[in-house]
This record gives sequence, C-alpha cells and structure tokens, in this order.
Amino acid sequence: MSNTIISVKNLVKKYGDFEAVKSISFDVHEGEIFGLLGPNGAGKSTTLEIIETLRTKTSGTITVAGFDLDTQANEIKKIIGVQLQSSGFYPGLNLIELINLFSGLYNEDVNAMELLDKVNLRDKAKAKVKELSGGQKQRFSIATTLINNPKIIFLDEPTTGLDPQARRNLWELIQDIRKGGTTVILTTHYMDEAELLCDRVAIIDQGKIIAIETPDNLVDNLVASGFERPKEVKKANLEDVFISLTGRTIRED
Ligand code: ADP
Repeated sequence: MSNTIISVKNLVKKYGDFEAVKSISFDVHEGEIFGLLGPNGAGKSTTLEIIETLRTKTSGTITVAGFDLDTQANEIKKIIGVQLQSSGFYPGLNLIELINLFSGLYNEDVNAMELLDKVNLRDKAKAKVKELSGGQKQRFSIATTLINNPKIIFLDEPTTGLDPQARRNLWELIQDIRKGGTTVILTTHYMDEAELLCDRVAIIDQGKIIAIETPDNLVDNLVASGFERPKEVKKANLEDVFISLTGRTIRED
C-alpha cells in the first residue's frame, strides 16, 4: 500500500456565484508523479494553488504530509516546492545570485553550484534569466522549487512551448527528481507527456474529476469499451521523425 501524502476531500472553490471547483476528492501517493489533466478553465490551477496555500478555498478539507491546510499552512509551505514564473525573478541578478537570494528567504543553506548542476545549468551560473532559452528557463525555475529540499513539488505546465529535445530533457529531470524521493504533481496539456511521466492522472472537466487512474488503465478501459481508432496507427509519428533527423542532443546550450 502506498502512503497518502496529499488528501483532498470535497474541495469547493467559488469565485462569486461561479463554482470553479465542484466538490472534488483525490489522494496523491508519496513518491508518485501525479498529473492533473483537463481543458482550459477546468479548475486545475485553482486546485493546485489552493493546495500550495496560495489561494483560499470555499470548503473542503486538505491535508499535506499530515498537516491540515486550515491550521498548519505554514508547516505545509516548508515542505513543498512551487514553481515560480520566470517573470517573477529579479532581472538584475544572475542564476547564482537568485538561488542565494531564495535560499536566504527560505533560511536554507544551499550549494548553488550543486543545484545548478542538478538541472544542467552550471555553464549558465553567471547568466541572467532573460539570457536563457525556454528550456533553460524552465530548468532554472524547477531548480528554484528544490531549494528547500521539498517533499512535494508542483509544476504547472512545465514543458509548454518547448521544442521536442528540451521537452525530453525536462522529462528526464522530472524523473530524476522523483527518483530522489520527491513527490511530483504536474499539470499538462500534452497527453504523450502524461502517459510517459505520470503514475496516475486525474482528468478534470468543468470543476469535476471525471477519471482518476493510471494512464495504462485508462487506455485499457477505453479499448475494453469497444473504442477503436478510425485508422491503423503508424509505428512512428512526426515527432519521431523530427527527433530521428535532428537528434536528441539539446541545442539550447
Ligand atoms: P485551469 O487551470 O484548468 O485552466 P483555472 O483553475 O485557472 O482552470 O480556472 C477555473 C475557472 O475559474 C475558469 O472558468 C476561470 O475563468 C475561473 N477563475 C480562475 N481564477 C479566477 C478568479 N481569480 N476570479 C474569477 N474567476 C476565476
């Protein structure tokens, strides 16, 4: 049996009269990569930001690593890592200086070079965020989630807008972080990404969870229901062609 690290029960979020999250319940297991999938406006960010203690909820109960969100939000903040948007970084500081600044804010003693190594950005230590490529920016923002050595990290669309090599690179990084024992919750619009990375996914639509399962079981259930693709699937797709022609090497560095 896997241990529950996040438990969400009957979570409701109203913005005025509009109910954006309609009494959803789910658990996240310790050490898993858990995906929140759903169309724009489904309530994914709202749900994540409530768990991250960044937004208030209307009702429901949430516990994170045994801490109650209502009474122990400060304890929760200490053990989670939340991805900042790159626009939130002080533009005048380089990567090392930013990490040192955040470590100071978290009251953590972090070896900035080691952390940059982990996300393959040692060469960019003296660069400013605006000088990084899209993939590098994402890797840096993931590095900042790790500063407080969190038990759980939250990644909101970590690979949106990246080229195929940079996406694969990010997937490896996320898998490495999980191998180190960190639980990962992410949102994505890429189904191939969810299938490859996530142990389980919750599909949210119009504020409700309509499925929660392993990607494999979801696909098997659909096939068992008699679903067939209209035409036979080719053994490769255009992305495979792209990667095969241009290679897996990262071009951004
Ligand atoms: P997702 O992340 O799945 O795209 P969101 O959680 O951002 O969805 O939004 C869910 C719904 O709540 C959307 O209809 C959105 O317009 C609405 N919403 C989000 N934030 C606010 C807000 N601060 N005030 C009013 N409505 C909001």
